[in-house]
Amino acid sequence: MEFHQARQDDEQSDAETYAASRRSMVETIREMAQETDDYARGGVSENVLAVMQRVPRHRFVPADQLSSAYFNQALPIGHDQTISQPYIVALVAELLQPGKHDTVLEIGTGSGYQAAVLAELAGQVYSVEIVAPLAVSAEKLLRSLGYDNIAVRHGDGTQGWPQHAPFDCITVAAATPHVPPALLAQLKPGGRLVIPLGGWSYAQQLMLLTKDRDGVMHNEAIIPVRFVPLTGGDA
Ligand code: SAH
Repeated sequence: MEFHQARQDDEQSDAETYAASRRSMVETIREMAQETDDYARGGVSENVLAVMQRVPRHRFVPADQLSSAYFNQALPIGHDQTISQPYIVALVAELLQPGKHDTVLEIGTGSGYQAAVLAELAGQVYSVEIVAPLAVSAEKLLRSLGYDNIAVRHGDGTQGWPQHAPFDCITVAAATPHVPPALLAQLKPGGRLVIPLGGWSYAQQLMLLTKDRDGVMHNEAIIPVRFVPLTGGDA
């Protein structure tokens, strides 16, 4: 009984410590967004910042990275992959602007963190991951955290997810020199696609692509970034 109480107290204080670290992470994101204001088209909205304050990033990092969970940096998650930097996750959510009835396609589930952030804003998230063990562990974690509006599939995301197309928003969490044509085809007119374009060893730009009502694409470079490479079919 006493032991049980002590454990609850520990969990309580852990939760408070994580919430405090998360608050300082959110403040860092807010400051970065203000500094890059002109550059990255306006800051990150309170709505997105509130989501960043809610999603428990420490649950998405490996045990040996726990103490870094709320640093504003990408962290290794095994299989040569990383969980994205919180500022970039917030910026992507801001650029995609998923509405609560919107359907989002994410390529590169990784840890599942970005999917969780998007699922707090969108109606439904479909996420594709090419590394099987990552797809399995992300799906399990997201389910255990209660996200019932995220579907994860193991496969090559360069093909999109045709069964659930078209999508209001698409995001790619890995860099490629060219936008995979299947993703352009699976974007709704009026839809938004955020993707890091460029090579592994040279400059990448986070791009916002919008498809207008007539199906014509418009491109905007947002900010220089460094993502892991997109692998698979058309990459
Ligand atoms: N959004 C993730 C970031 C993961 S890093 C997070 O928040 O944790 C990018 C991920 O893209 C890696 O897990 C990598 O395995 C995956 N990836 C690379 N090429 C892919 C492809 N063709 N299809 C699906 N996933 C791919």
